Amino acid sequence: MEEEIRCIGCGARIQAEDKEALGFLPASALKKRLENDEDIYCQRCFRLRHYNEIVPTSLTDDDFLRLLNEIGQEDALIVNVVDIFDFNGSIIPGLHRLTGGNDVLLVANKKDVLPHSLKAGKLKAWLKGEASEHGLKPVDILVTSAKNKDDVSELMEAIEHYRHGRDVYVVGVTNVGKSTLINAIIKNVTGSQDVITTSRFPGTTLDKIEIPLDDDSQLIDTPGIIHRGQMAHYLDKKDLDLVSPKKEIKPRTFQLNPEQTLFLGGLARFDFISGEKQGMTAFFENGLSIHRTKLAGADDFYEKHAGELLQPVVEGRKLLRKEFSIKEKSDIVYSGLGWVRVSGPAVVAAWLPEGVDLVVRKALI
Ligand code: GDP
Repeated sequence: MEEEIRCIGCGARIQAEDKEALGFLPASALKKRLENDEDIYCQRCFRLRHYNEIVPTSLTDDDFLRLLNEIGQEDALIVNVVDIFDFNGSIIPGLHRLTGGNDVLLVANKKDVLPHSLKAGKLKAWLKGEASEHGLKPVDILVTSAKNKDDVSELMEAIEHYRHGRDVYVVGVTNVGKSTLINAIIKNVTGSQDVITTSRFPGTTLDKIEIPLDDDSQLIDTPGIIHRGQMAHYLDKKDLDLVSPKKEIKPRTFQLNPEQTLFLGGLARFDFISGEKQGMTAFFENGLSIHRTKLAGADDFYEKHAGELLQPVVEGRKLLRKEFSIKEKSDIVYSGLGWVRVSGPAVVAAWLPEGVDLVVRKALI
């Protein structure tokens, strides 16, 4: 059996397989450090030590539940970061029950990708409604872009306002931009080096990152949980980059007749089955190619062009079909990929790789 090597920073077992899991260190770096008889830190602790920079990590569901329970015992402010573009994929089931009655500040990140015509008031009202449907009653909702310094300052002011001298725990599923936000907070709060300390959640091997806020309270970053319904977990980095919006999405409207199909790259499909001819608007990364074809020939079209004209695809996963009867203006949401707005009434079908979430909601825009 191979000897187990542990990170001297966080105690995680060193592994070279999963970049996002605890203890990751590329095999080449491990070899070099062993040869030079250097201390073995995982990549995350190394970056933390040398650059005061945190790297995203993720946890198993059990560890995450344990962590939330732990937080539930504390008197603290919980900051829950979600991705506006993938609200359903970023909500933490049961968060309100697990945080033990602590105040939750909801931070909806990646606002830069939504069409700028969407008014802030309308967006907040929509977020409040969505949060409430998941049983979450946040003390306030902030809309941010982690890349925007002003938003980060505003977030820090809100945290200061709502924490009433308490510690602050930042929680979120992976890929919502939590690390990007925390790194911006570190720069905002300190501007200086060596301010992050790490410590363990009692009874676990999980490290938490503590950023001092004042003499006796801190902001604590927690590892993210993987929400398996997110598209992100079925794509490699290159393909994920291809489908993740990097700037404002330009809505694309198609005047569709019934029995027409749209292919969203090779990842998803939208069928207009019956209803009056109408405009269907696609909200996806601007670089994702959308192909229109006849419903009757769509299966053959996919068979023939998947992986070439229709890019990217999730290898080895079939597209599953769900049919919906739409009465009012609604979004068919392909979790983490985007959505198609249907004016209705219409009968439509949506296809997605097995395992990725699909939701219908009242139109956001
Ligand atoms: P974490 O897993 O929640 O810690 O997420 P990361 O901070 O690693 O971010 C996940 C991805 O989202 C990265 O590709 C980031 O560049 C991107 N991202 C983070 N914040 C924003 C944002 O405000 N706007 C946009 N457009 N992308 C963001």
